[in-house]
Amino acid sequence: MPPPGGRNGYLTEEEKKNKPKVTKELLLRIFSYLKPYRKQFLLVLTAILCSAVMSLMPSVLTGKIIDEGLIKQDLHKLILFILLSFGVTLAANLIGILESYLNTWIAQHITFDMRNAMYKHLQTMSQRFFTTNNQGDIITRMTSDISGVQQIITNTLTSILSNAITLIAALVLMFRENWILALIGALIVPLFTIPTRRAGKNRWEITRESQACSDEINGILNETLSVSGQLLVKLFGMEQHEYQRYETVNRRMIHLNIRESMAGRWFRMVLTTFTSIGPMLIYLVGGIIMMHYDPTLTVGQITVLVALLGRMYMPVNQLLNIQVDWIRSMAMFTRIFEYYDMPAEITDDPDAVTPEDVRGEVEFRHVQFRYNPEREILKDINFTLEKGKCVAIVGPSGSGKSTLVNLIPRLYDVTGGAVLFDGTDVRKLPLEFLREHIGIVSQETYLFNGTIRENLLYAKPDATEAELIEACKCANIYEFVEKQEEGLDTVVGNRGLKLSGGEKQRISIARILLKDPALMIFDEATSALDSISEQMIQDAIEPLIASRTSILIAHRLSTILAADEILVIKDGEIAERGTHSELVGSGGVYTQLYETQFRRADSEAAQPDLSYTEGEA
Ligand code: ATP
Repeated sequence: MPPPGGRNGYLTEEEKKNKPKVTKELLLRIFSYLKPYRKQFLLVLTAILCSAVMSLMPSVLTGKIIDEGLIKQDLHKLILFILLSFGVTLAANLIGILESYLNTWIAQHITFDMRNAMYKHLQTMSQRFFTTNNQGDIITRMTSDISGVQQIITNTLTSILSNAITLIAALVLMFRENWILALIGALIVPLFTIPTRRAGKNRWEITRESQACSDEINGILNETLSVSGQLLVKLFGMEQHEYQRYETVNRRMIHLNIRESMAGRWFRMVLTTFTSIGPMLIYLVGGIIMMHYDPTLTVGQITVLVALLGRMYMPVNQLLNIQVDWIRSMAMFTRIFEYYDMPAEITDDPDAVTPEDVRGEVEFRHVQFRYNPEREILKDINFTLEKGKCVAIVGPSGSGKSTLVNLIPRLYDVTGGAVLFDGTDVRKLPLEFLREHIGIVSQETYLFNGTIRENLLYAKPDATEAELIEACKCANIYEFVEKQEEGLDTVVGNRGLKLSGGEKQRISIARILLKDPALMIFDEATSALDSISEQMIQDAIEPLIASRTSILIAHRLSTILAADEILVIKDGEIAERGTHSELVGSGGVYTQLYETQFRRADSEAAQPDLSYTEGEA
């Protein structure tokens, strides 16, 4: 069904500019969600039709009660019509219950489908999507926007149908009773369009503003009530500032809510006033016709017309109000579809073939990369990593080291050149295969809020107890686990924050050990750990590196020394390459890094560093 607002042109120019474009494609797309439930929907339609028509019957029967029962003083007919009227009302209400149930059922199932599809789609979105889009906005679309869709199905859609049917049926019945009076009743209806135009004027603007405001509130809450966010707020003493920021948006929100609700209230007041004019006019004209022109017109007939007119106002009123709900729902659908239509940037090549032999070898061939067109992050990177070898990547902060390794599991795709895994361009390999054979221990260790066991099983859901223990032992974390009362079932806290940085790192190493990838990438944390933690991590990764193909983003000399080749990245380019002894005396970037960073990091590690660092937090 086309939107009543759009079709009847109730919207002002300003609204037309801002309202979502309701196209045939959009409507077809919305209705495509109804398709799987068309049988149930047909049943709802029948129920709506029956209950709408039946609910009008008592009004018609009132005429019979007056003319044939009361005026003719026929008790038998009086009782018959009263019982009939009661029976029809009861039946209409019972059908109404069935209709509500089916309606809710359909709406819930459609939202279920939409939520699942959206979640699935979001899972395929690239890293770029999540780094670019506001988290609050993503969550709003997943939650309140999709709930809004449920609203449109349960309320708006059925409301349009049942009101339209009631309206048409009432009009037909009125014209059957008396066409002159029916015409008067029908002529009053257009008067409703006047207040609608006024009321609709600002509503869309307010709705849009309050949606943006709600996104902003979600954003603030997400940022400042997260563990790391709170820590930052506390350490910088920004509680008052954040409170004020929140209060300002919150205040704006209540103003918008009040304005939005008052726009509707004012609208209803005008409509109610108009509602009282109609019956009076029919009594007046009906009385004049009966007294002077047509004595066959009965009191019962006039009463039926007034009753039917009364039944018409509500549907008209609701249909006109729906315009606003409709626009809001369309805006929600548009927002949801906007996400659906964002292409998953990184997808499987249809011709991708799964190789049989996995060695974990990597080759970068003239690799170029930019996050956005303005700035080149990696420029012509070339290197080869053979099976069982280890490459260390070093370089100043921001030189592009993490970016470089993120290209291997295709978190991003190269913008020039190619990354090869076992001799095949990574874009020609199935994503699942590629990621299955690459393990990354990233700088920022992420653990889900659950137990140590659950976090470990994330890498290998069917791992046995013995395998879990073995992995923990190899990662030097078993001693810690054993000391915990709950052992492997110790809860790690929100994002693993109940654990120290070193413990988290070692758990993530155990997790990678369980995954047992062909290629290991270790992004060493820049933050300082005390020498004991440092040594424990070192002891855990050294055997790992020795036994498999690996890439290390290194910040410490001890890690670098374990590598077969060192690549020094500066400004997105390989500035130098070689072994430690070849590079250290060259007087270039590596020498500088060695003097300023590695040597210091290692001497610090030699003495426990207990100072607090932000990165560690
Ligand atoms: P560090 O040693 O400090 O971790 P790095 O060498 O690993 O630094 P990268 O994280 O690869 O550096 O970042 C390289 C450059 O790319 C930086 O200038 C950074 O600002 C930019 N950058 C990183 N991630 C993004 C992103 N998602 N979108 C846009 N630019 C980014």
